Amino acid sequence: MLIYNTYTREKEEFKPIEENKVKMYICGPTVYNYIHIGNARPVLFFDLVHRYFKYLGYEVEFVSNVTDVDDKIINRAIEEEVTEAEIAEKYLNYFLECNQLLNALPFTSMPKVTENMDEMIQFIHELVERGFAYAVDGDVYFRIDKVREYGQLSGKKIEELEVGARIAEDSKKENPLDFVLWKKTDKGITWDSPWGAGRPGWHTECVVMIGKEFGGKIDIHGGGTDLQFPHHENEIAQSICMNGHSLANYWMHVGRLGLNNEKMSKSLGNVINVKDLIEAIDANAFRLFMLSVHYRQPINYTEENIQLAVKEWQKIKSTFEQLHLKLDLAEALEVEGEVVPEIEDLMQQFTAALEDDFNTSNAITSLYGVIKEINKMTRAKASDAACKYALMTLQNMAYIFGFDLSKKRLTLEERKLMKAWEEARKAKDFTKADELRAQLQALNVL
Ligand SMILES: [Zn+2]
Repeated sequence: MLIYNTYTREKEEFKPIEENKVKMYICGPTVYNYIHIGNARPVLFFDLVHRYFKYLGYEVEFVSNVTDVDDKIINRAIEEEVTEAEIAEKYLNYFLECNQLLNALPFTSMPKVTENMDEMIQFIHELVERGFAYAVDGDVYFRIDKVREYGQLSGKKIEELEVGARIAEDSKKENPLDFVLWKKTDKGITWDSPWGAGRPGWHTECVVMIGKEFGGKIDIHGGGTDLQFPHHENEIAQSICMNGHSLANYWMHVGRLGLNNEKMSKSLGNVINVKDLIEAIDANAFRLFMLSVHYRQPINYTEENIQLAVKEWQKIKSTFEQLHLKLDLAEALEVEGEVVPEIEDLMQQFTAALEDDFNTSNAITSLYGVIKEINKMTRAKASDAACKYALMTLQNMAYIFGFDLSKKRLTLEERKLMKAWEEARKAKDFTKADELRAQLQALNVL
């Protein structure tokens, strides 16, 4: 499997640190607001990565932090006249609810900053002790001069960054690029530290969480492209000093989502919240749209694009349901599948696309190919065994893409009703057919 590694700017063969195991981490939400569909892009993409590794038989340990201490949370708490803890809880619950609605697999663990404060203070303390950081007036800064590799991930040169940073030069810093590890403050919730009361800076969180959760270097560190600099660069800098390694073997970054070709941001006021959208359209259609473009490319949300995905999703769903119904009616779900060469080829193309740096766009083309084949098979009245194989292939593809195709098996009673409904329609007894349809709908079968 090839993965594009931002750190080396090359597609590299994936080699896990431990055999049959994948250790993954993504920077999690700062829980001060409802997550919008732009925030959902990394969530959905890395869920696909998680699912694909699981499909291949790997054990996946997937961790994401929760930033529950931040200026934005404090400001929101003042605005809503509640405590910071209440704000963090409210918006974390919203995030988790959205993940569930989006059918994302749960994270192995989601450590919170407030629950790891001792470890963070200890980590910063050690950086100071070892000369990688310095305290001034209750603040602590990281010395970027200590890291030769600084700028490698984001492809930035220190000299150029320094020119830009000088304008906003902070007199307390030795170098304008040094970043804050501990911030002295008396606003909002604070913790005691060797440097006085304050709060940790954001960039230390993930390094500490990764150390604690995984105990060393991980395979994949992910996030949005906007996190490359300074956040991930600063994570790497701290890890190089403390651990002697760059934290992860593969750095993966997901491109931005635009709304009608504009940046979607809370400050511009053009955001669509995840729950609002999936209440309006099917969550599966939203997934199909989000995965229709390769993850490193930007994706553009327009009404037209999303409606197209809704239509495509309908086709996938109805093909699946017809196939499922056919097998269910034939009571043939227990039959052994029989390989259909055209479908086997398409499944191979599907996995080959994903093995090439998770090219979901090409994988979707293979998925559409399978839908077409199935429709051909239905018209040609293919055998139950061939249909069973097609159904299993479609289910595997759906699992990897995180589509929810769960359809309960029909009970004997429901099957009888279904057959009666079919017969009524064949006999053109529309009164009876309508009656049976209503009964089936009441049972949630239709
Ligand atoms: Zn992070």
